[in-house]
Formats: sequence, structure tokens, C-alpha cells
Amino acid sequence: PPLVRLERVSKSYTTPAGTRVAVDDVSLEVREGEILGVIGYSGAGKSTLVRLINALELPTSGKVFVGDDELTALPESRLRQVRQGIGMIFQQFNLFRSRTVAGNVAFPLRVAGLGRAERDARTAEILDFVGLLDRAYSYPEQLSGGQKQRVGIARALATNPRILLADEATSALDPETTADVLALLRRINRDLGVTVVVITHEMDAIRAIADRVVVMDEGRVVEQGDVYDVFSAP
Ligand code: ADP
Ligand code: ADP
Repeated sequence: PPLVRLERVSKSYTTPAGTRVAVDDVSLEVREGEILGVIGYSGAGKSTLVRLINALELPTSGKVFVGDDELTALPESRLRQVRQGIGMIFQQFNLFRSRTVAGNVAFPLRVAGLGRAERDARTAEILDFVGLLDRAYSYPEQLSGGQKQRVGIARALATNPRILLADEATSALDPETTADVLALLRRINRDLGVTVVVITHEMDAIRAIADRVVVMDEGRVVEQGDVYDVFSAP
């Protein structure tokens, strides 16, 4: 079964100007082990889609399944567990300025209730994996953009999620650093077996690493399939 499944999902917001349909009758799945790309222009509904997948929002209509759980049917306590099983990385990295690299990575482990020894062991392991063990005591402002994103990735992976959602994760980075981060995401997929969803407006990023792609426009999925088929269409 797919890790995530959206069944005819719509999400609308009520604003002073009226109702805004951010996601409009979307059906899609995220398959175990794949790298799925979600591409679309600004306003296409990508961020809303992310918040629906990580259970920060519930659909106005339709169903979202994460594993066997249908999110609208879950109590808040279970929703919290679902959220903890999904790692997130962001365009602006969202690191804690006042914490060291290790402190940032250890933070979700602390929230999960791990003791000091386990936190330290896991923090060292994952920092080593992203190549930043030697920066454990640095602060975010002492790092380059690419290093900050690698800290963000390490923090997202600390609790061993099965899915990593990358929301415009390379959009603030130069091309060379982007390539490094994409290579790291591929390694996370292949070596750690983490399913990766890359949400972006950058076609090149999708081409570089995605197995499948979902194209969104004005809240709707206008195309989906293998990257090769979608991008080589006449
Ligand atoms: P994207 O991430 O592709 O740029 P979004 O999901 O952020 O797209 O937005 C899709 C549409 O939904 C936009 O028209 C946006 O203005 C609207 N929208 C998103 N979130 C809200 C919200 N909380 N309240 C009102 N409108 C929203
Ligand atoms: P706090 O413990 O209050 O969060 P820090 O911001 O210094 O303070 O967080 C450091 C966290 O990361 C602690 O859990 C610490 O034990 C761990 N840590 C610090 N350096 C390393 C390292 N080189 N390898 C593994 N874990 C480390």
C-alpha cells in the first residue's frame, strides 16, 4: 500500500474576499521508497498539499491516508504521532539560532523523550551521515547555506521518519550547493530507505532526482507520471 494517499481532496479557506480553493479535488499517492516531485508555480497549492500530508491541516472534503490511518478520523494524540513520523525541511532552514548544530539536531529527540546518552549517540550518527560532525558545536550563523540545510536535514531525520518532505528546500541555494543537497536527498532515499517528496517550482531539481512527478496548477493536479514521460511530452 502507498505510504500516503489523497482521495479527491479539496481544501478551501474562507477569506474576507470570499472562499479560496487552495487544493481542488486532488488524488495522488506517495509510494514507499520513491522520490516524488511535486512541481507548480507559486499559488498552485503545493504548500497546502504539504500541510495536508503532514497533518497540519485537515481537508475540507476528501480523505488523506497516512499508512492505514485516515487523518480526519484520528484524535489529536494520534495526529501528533503521524506528524512525528514525517520529517520536514524548508527553504529558510528554520533552525534555532540560539542552539548549536548538535542542539538543533538533538531537539526533536528531546521532544520525543530520549535520554541524554541516546540523544548524543543519535545526534553524532546523523551528523556524521550528513558530513557535519566536525561542526557539532557551531551555531547556525557560522555556517554556509548548504551546511544549514544539511543541519535541517539531519534534524528532520533524527527521529527516523519514513517520509521526508522537502518544501522548496533548495530554492535559497546556489546551483552548486543545490546539487550537493539533492545528492544528499538521493543518498537518504537509497541508503536509509526514506521516501522523499520534493516540492518545488524548480524543474531542474525534479529532473535531477525524482522518480515520478505530480504537476499542480491552480490547486489541481494537471499531470502525473514518470519524470521522463511527463517532461518529454510533445
Ligand atoms: P504554493 O505553495 O504552490 O505557492 P499555496 O498552497 O501556498 O500554493 O496557496 C494556494 C492558494 O491558496 C493561494 O491562492 C493562496 O493564497 C491560498 N491560501 C493558502 N493558504 C491560505 C490560508 N491560510 N488562507 C487563505 N488562503 C490561503
Ligand atoms: P542542550 O543540551 O541544552 O540542547 P546544546 O544546544 O549544547 O544544549 O545541545 C547539545 C545537544 O547535542 C546535547 O544533547 C548534547 O549532548 C548533544 N551534542 C553536543 N555535541 C555533540 C556531538 N559532537 N555529538 C553528539 N551529540 C552532541
